[in-house]
Amino acid sequence: MYLMILGAPGSGKGTQGKLLADHLGIPQVSTGELLRAAVKNGTPLGRQAKGFMDQGLLVPDDVILGLIREILDSAEAQRGVLMDGFPRTVAQAEAVDRILAERGGRVDQVALLEVDEEELVQRLLGRATKEGRSDDNLQSIRQRLMVYQEQTAPLVAYYDGQGVVRRVAGMGSVEEIQERMQKAVRA
Ligand code: ADP
Repeated sequence: MYLMILGAPGSGKGTQGKLLADHLGIPQVSTGELLRAAVKNGTPLGRQAKGFMDQGLLVPDDVILGLIREILDSAEAQRGVLMDGFPRTVAQAEAVDRILAERGGRVDQVALLEVDEEELVQRLLGRATKEGRSDDNLQSIRQRLMVYQEQTAPLVAYYDGQGVVRRVAGMGSVEEIQERMQKAVRA
């Protein structure tokens, strides 16, 4: 099963994705986490990505797609995978459709986490104090929300066209939202 979690920055993709992947018994892949690890370790990928991430911009598609091919080729991903933070552009979505089609697969479901914009900003500012992520400052947060609206939100229509979107209300406690997620992907 290939499952994507779609949602704005701060919508809870990582938290909910991890719980849902455990529940489904498939690995979770977060492109954001992989990129942050690469930056921290100073790898070539990290050096390419850092400037974009700090400014709240997307890392270029060709860089991300190299990473995605590697993941989908790995032994752990053969029974399926839950991705959070990918795809983020229509070009990425089209590319992963081609990659999965080569393997006889497809994106089975897309869980869309819906959260009010005011709540998103509050959560991201809260996380900035707690986790000290270098891209959680007001300027980068505004930029990431704008990038989401411009480049990632069009994916909802793209996947609606494939009939795979499951909308999940992303407000409430972590447990409540997780319950909705599990129901949504079962339905
Ligand atoms: P958030 O959803 O809060 O922005 P992520 O961890 O998903 O957090 O992403 C952090 C940053 O990593 C993004 O702002 C972007 O620079 C980069 N990134 C993550 N995934 C992708 C992707 N699929 N394509 C391009 N850039 C990405």
